[in-house]
Amino acid sequence: MPFKALNLSDQVLRGVQAAGYTDPTPIQLRAIPAVLTGGDLIASAQTGTGKTAAFALPILTRLGTHGRTRVLVLEPTRELAAQVETAFRDFARFTDLRTVAIFGGVGYGTQRTELRRGVDIIVATPGRLMDYLKERTISLQDISILVLDEVDRMLDMGFLPAVKDIIARCPRDRQTLFFSATVPPEIAAVASFALRNPTKVEIGVARSVNASVNHALYPVAFDQKFELLEALLAKTDFDSVLVFSRTKHGADKIARRLKAANHSVAVLHANRSQNQRIEALAGFKSGKYEVMVATDIAARGIDVAGVSHVINYDVPEKPEDYVHRIGRTGRAQAVGDAFTLVTPENAGDIRDIQRFIGQKIPELKLEGFDYKPIVARPAHVLDSKAGAHAKQSRQGGWQRFGGGGGRRRARY
Ligand code: AMP
Repeated sequence: MPFKALNLSDQVLRGVQAAGYTDPTPIQLRAIPAVLTGGDLIASAQTGTGKTAAFALPILTRLGTHGRTRVLVLEPTRELAAQVETAFRDFARFTDLRTVAIFGGVGYGTQRTELRRGVDIIVATPGRLMDYLKERTISLQDISILVLDEVDRMLDMGFLPAVKDIIARCPRDRQTLFFSATVPPEIAAVASFALRNPTKVEIGVARSVNASVNHALYPVAFDQKFELLEALLAKTDFDSVLVFSRTKHGADKIARRLKAANHSVAVLHANRSQNQRIEALAGFKSGKYEVMVATDIAARGIDVAGVSHVINYDVPEKPEDYVHRIGRTGRAQAVGDAFTLVTPENAGDIRDIQRFIGQKIPELKLEGFDYKPIVARPAHVLDSKAGAHAKQSRQGGWQRFGGGGGRRRARY
């Protein structure tokens, strides 16, 4: 079924055409008609499925022309808020509808000016939105459509109280669209608080790794991880490499050492200022930086085309993050390579990942690398944070996804 058959407005269809989309993705096929009816929706779908257009296109069609602030979209991270706002703006280019992105880390000035000019759609992170609500720069009394995107991530980041507060400030008589990769009980409770009689759309958690990605595990002794990373970079013919670290501190450390080894490196994590994050992403996209070191939260959902290699310096915390990370490469038919450095302490996490994706990841050795014996470090040597974490993640397993509460916030 082409987009034309979906009852989108002509102006929005022109926006879709300008974006170069020809056929709707499965979530778009199912969500667009549901959103157009004005009813509530709960969808389990992840980034990469075309979820943004699945809500943006029918919302823009429903709005029609410029009026009051009627739509609020909540996103967990600044990057996603910026990306989703850009998508709205692009699709709305043949309308007179106005959008604004509201997130922390940048000055209040421009955001306030845009708000005063009058906007139809606000795409915001919960923290900065709460600031504006408290100082009464924004009122939610005219919101007729509320989108809660990546709810599981918002809860993971400790935004539950803010999200609840924001929902309660919106008029009861509204349309609510709710997106979450998984819906464990904690999230189901928010859904029942936010939604009325919703249509359910399930696109399923992306468990499979794109067939165009060659992925492999590289077992290594803990204190040779950086050496192996360098050796992989030296031996690999890459264009752009995304290196994942579990922690912000770790990302900084890897970046420092790579810089010292003469690589051009960008860093992306939640402690960087907004300007630094924008510069890092833009520089990585343009080729100014050959390597970007990132944490999961910062990199989630970000669309960077043309990443030739992903290197998991640290094994991801949750199996679905493995799929996300690996999904950064091998996009758009380019064949990508994804390497994961593993130490004996990661055995449990690797088992979880392999079970989750339903396949065994091949183990490789880098030829010519001077490997030390790979043995588990004694418990007392484990850094207390990493040790506590490894234990927690094995006990909880990936099914506890979403149950981490605010604890994780500080680490990313
Ligand atoms: P999302 O899941 O919204 O982050 O979208 C993932 C990527 O798919 C983005 O780069 C979108 O521009 C792209 N995309 C979304 N819908 C379509 C479509 N119908 N046809 C082609 N590309 C799409």
